[in-house]
Amino acid sequence: MRMLLMGPPGAGKGTQAKVLADRLGIPAVSTGDIFRANVKDETELGLEAKRYMDAGNYVPDEVTNAMVRDRLSEADAGEGFLLDGYPRTLPQVGTLDDILADHGHQLNAVVALVADTDVLVDRMLRRSKVDGRSDDSEEVIRHRQEVYAAETKPLLRVYAQRGLLVEVDGVGEIAEVSERVLAALKTLDG
Ligand code: AMP
Repeated sequence: MRMLLMGPPGAGKGTQAKVLADRLGIPAVSTGDIFRANVKDETELGLEAKRYMDAGNYVPDEVTNAMVRDRLSEADAGEGFLLDGYPRTLPQVGTLDDILADHGHQLNAVVALVADTDVLVDRMLRRSKVDGRSDDSEEVIRHRQEVYAAETKPLLRVYAQRGLLVEVDGVGEIAEVSERVLAALKTLDG
């Protein structure tokens, strides 16, 4: 299974990615987590990414694409993966297509978690108090929703046209949402 988990910031992608990857027996690859690990370790990549992340902007495509290409070439991603937070721009869609083609693979499913923006902003404000993420001030949170709407939401159409998209209500208990996603995956021809 090679799948994407999409949806606006705060929709619970990270949490669901881990649960679903575990259930499906594939690695969850989260670009946000990889960036955060690099920021923490103060690597060159981390230092570059941090200024974009702190402002709620996307890290440039060439940086993100190179990182994902490397990660998907690792052995554990050979049999499948769940991508969380990638692709987020049209050029990233093209790069992912190229990476998959290079490995002779294709995508099986794109799951989009759907939730109301106001619910998400509330959720993220609460999370920021628990996690202390530096990209979680109210202004940055609202900006991230705008960036998602402008840059990433249009990708859903692309995947819908390919017949890969399933939209799932992302509001509810963690286990409830996971079950919805697993049920929705069965509706694709796979
Ligand atoms: P996330 O944890 O997925 O919300 O990602 C946190 C931050 O990492 C985002 O706000 C971006 O600054 C950066 N990031 C993660 N994934 C990508 C991506 N595919 N393209 C560009 N920036 C990304």
